[in-house]
Amino acid sequence: MSTYGDLDKLNTPGLPVPTITDLSRPHWEGCQRDELLVQRCQDCGHYVFIPELACTNCLSQQLDWVASSGTGVLYSFTVIYRPQRPEFDAPYIGAIIELEEGWHMLSNLIECEPEAACIGMPVEVCFVPRGDNLKLPMFRPLVAG
Ligand SMILES: [Zn+2]
Repeated sequence: MSTYGDLDKLNTPGLPVPTITDLSRPHWEGCQRDELLVQRCQDCGHYVFIPELACTNCLSQQLDWVASSGTGVLYSFTVIYRPQRPEFDAPYIGAIIELEEGWHMLSNLIECEPEAACIGMPVEVCFVPRGDNLKLPMFRPLVAG
């Protein structure tokens, strides 16, 4: 039996790719370098994700791109058994991750059987190739040691 979320099933032909905009480009370029970049407000320190033109806390437009540690915990998740597109290898886990810095992102939990997923479990980012020249940030269980 294969482990759920095998990397070789996460880049099969036909899977959708994100639309990269001028606003989100730094995030995707960071992923290419295996860096998880997030916007941070210079004025109030709030982390902003998804990318925005202004801080979602104080409306300042002084946003920097900073590197996240890429570690956090599983904040919430759902197991998808009937994918919206046939290209997806189901079941898979849609997850909200709470990063160490306190911000959240929607992603996937991989290399984890659905029955093993639990709220609060430590996770780490990994960068999964998608298409010809993209990497997507996904998360896997963080093994201590
Ligand atoms: Zn702010």
